[in-house]
Amino acid sequence: MADTIFTKILRGDIPCHKVYEDEHVLAFLDIRPLSYGHTLVIPKEEAATLDQLSDDASAAIGRVLPRLCRAIRAITGVEQFNVLQNNGPMAHQAVFHVHFHIIPKPGVDEGLGIEWPAKKLDPQEAAKLAASLSNEIGG
Ligand code: 5GP
Repeated sequence: MADTIFTKILRGDIPCHKVYEDEHVLAFLDIRPLSYGHTLVIPKEEAATLDQLSDDASAAIGRVLPRLCRAIRAITGVEQFNVLQNNGPMAHQAVFHVHFHIIPKPGVDEGLGIEWPAKKLDPQEAAKLAASLSNEIGG
């Protein structure tokens, strides 16, 4: 996997405004925030998209995400927020190192805007799909 800008930040080659660091995770302010407090949370493990991330790195991120959300809520005073995680260029991923955005939502026209083109779920199709997915994941 080619070095991304986040690898360079992890190595300390490029500066960042660090918010949190542990053995597996780094969190820092987004350089082009959608709102005040917009923070990126990345694993130190090199993986381009979430499906490629190891269980250990995923667990480390999961352990710290809610804590970071609480800190951002407390410091910005903004109670509502989005956690966004993009995978692939069509899904708006620009940096190919797994990252979670924590984006405070201070008002309807601020923070993350989302289009949600919801469709109908066909019950028969849904039963088949859920069974296939469950079989694939071994759940
Ligand atoms: P994506 O679209 O891949 O989910 O989001 C990548 C994010 O990384 C963007 O919000 C962008 O502003 C942020 N970003 C890109 N380069 C840098 C950088 O050099 N430093 C920091 N702090 N953030 C960056």
